[in-house]
Amino acid sequence: MLDYAVIGGGIGGVLASAVLSHMGKDVMLFEALDYLGGCAGTFKRGGFYYNAGAATFVGKEEHLPVGKLAKYLGVELPVKPIDPAMVVYIEDKVIKRWKDADKSLYDIETAFPGIKHGGFWRRVHQVSQSLWSIWQDTLPYPHYLSPIKSFFKHTKDFLSVFMCNFLDAKKVASVYLGRFNSDYELFLTHHTLITAQGFLEEVPFSVASLGLTYPNLTNYYVVGGMGKLLDAFAQRVKSIAFKTKVKSIKRKPWGFVVETNRGNYEAKRVILNTTIWNAGELIEELRDFSEKAKRRYSKIWGAFVVYMTVEGSLPEDFAHHHLMLFREPIPYTGSRSLFLSISEKDDPVLSKDGTRSITLSTHTKLELWEGLSNEVYAEKKERATEYALELVYKHLPELRNLKVLNLFAGTPKTFKTYTRRYRGSVGGVPVIKQNFPFRYPSPLTPVPGVYLVGDTVFPGQGWPGVSMGVVNLLKFIEKDFKLC
Ligand SMILES: Cc1cc2nc3c(=O)[nH]c(=O)nc-3n(C[C@H](O)[C@H](O)[C@H](O)COP(=O)(O)OP(=O)(O)OC[C@H]3O[C@@H](n4cnc5c(N)ncnc54)[C@H](O)[C@@H]3O)c2cc1C
Repeated sequence: MLDYAVIGGGIGGVLASAVLSHMGKDVMLFEALDYLGGCAGTFKRGGFYYNAGAATFVGKEEHLPVGKLAKYLGVELPVKPIDPAMVVYIEDKVIKRWKDADKSLYDIETAFPGIKHGGFWRRVHQVSQSLWSIWQDTLPYPHYLSPIKSFFKHTKDFLSVFMCNFLDAKKVASVYLGRFNSDYELFLTHHTLITAQGFLEEVPFSVASLGLTYPNLTNYYVVGGMGKLLDAFAQRVKSIAFKTKVKSIKRKPWGFVVETNRGNYEAKRVILNTTIWNAGELIEELRDFSEKAKRRYSKIWGAFVVYMTVEGSLPEDFAHHHLMLFREPIPYTGSRSLFLSISEKDDPVLSKDGTRSITLSTHTKLELWEGLSNEVYAEKKERATEYALELVYKHLPELRNLKVLNLFAGTPKTFKTYTRRYRGSVGGVPVIKQNFPFRYPSPLTPVPGVYLVGDTVFPGQGWPGVSMGVVNLLKFIEKDFKLC
């Protein structure tokens, strides 16, 4: 009889399993694939390795969620700091997002002259710093005691950010910046889109502040691919069953029976690292819960991703991450941005034998890839890839001359196949005003003993979001759990 069966080895499942194992619980982590990470994993194809999606890593400082968990578990992460965090391109403008806030602001002022930027960016930094100092004491969420505790412990920071949860980020930006031009809006709105999955006018100012300032945290390159972060945390997990797909979970008076393709297991409690929309496929009693979540959180995103292995030389200072923004939407995907991440020259896994691994991603609507015949789907994928690459070469001509050794694309259909996520959606539940702060999903489900982790529960996506969600869950379910 396991204490916990954890279903899914994404960031949420691995971190939750590692902490519970560390606390002495009998834990088994079930992962359908033969590697960990899901959307944040690293996979092999055609002899080369690729980051599935996630390539940016932040939150490792000791006061931030991943850093706290790594310290608690005594895990060393295979990372090195990078600066700038990314380079942003809009037509002929090039803006480097340096860690140093003043240096970064100088680049922004140069790209968008004639605007008084200082007040806005000062406020954005103040709000994000306050949020990062109070995050731990605002958990568990949702709980009536958390805001009270946070207020008394961090009165100044609490007051500084409280109202920002209810203010429209675009309106606040307009108050500080006046009538800012459309390229500047494109720049700001894509910071919130890639971090909170919502445009500037959709997200609360508090959430926008975190998205706008993530480049000013220490950003890291993960040596060997993002999957190595999961492998590092997984060393603390008591037991992992790879290639083990959980087919269903049956409730019993004493706990649960977890039915897999490799046999059945008994557990007192279950943690689902599936999306909130998939939960009902595994547990009959959660069917209505998941259906309701599909209606309630219907604004969701998919990703179109191009994976590429290239060979040839690049300038020594070629940045790791490039965000390209466009005034017109990209045909086939409907988005206005491309995010390119490239492996370091001497990465032992991703850049073997002088090659480099590229992951190029963009948001896309799920319905654009649904209901297509195989031929139409394949052609659309090919055209979208060609179009995206031409856009990339305009901003990064150095890449055009490299020899392409492997090239293929992933769509929501691909994410559905590999990660099993509902409709192949990624990025979780957007942290937008219609959901946040009061309507955001919590880790608790209507079935006692069954819980959720991952990017579809509070506070959302990415390494910082999902790891904070793990801390949130553990604060609910394990009284002895204490992070320093
Ligand atoms: C294109 C793209 C780019 C991104 N870029 C970044 C970035 O740069 N930085 C960042 O921090 N975040 C980024 N993100 C977001 C981040 O990757 C995700 O928010 C995060 O990885 C989600 O983690 P999760 O815990 O929800 O698990 P998931 O990634 O959803 O993983 C779930 C796991 O569960 C397994 N599973 C599902 N069902 C079953 C079952 N029935 N039985 C057994 N196993 C099962 C799956 O195989 C999978 O491994 C990006 C996402 C995408 C798609």
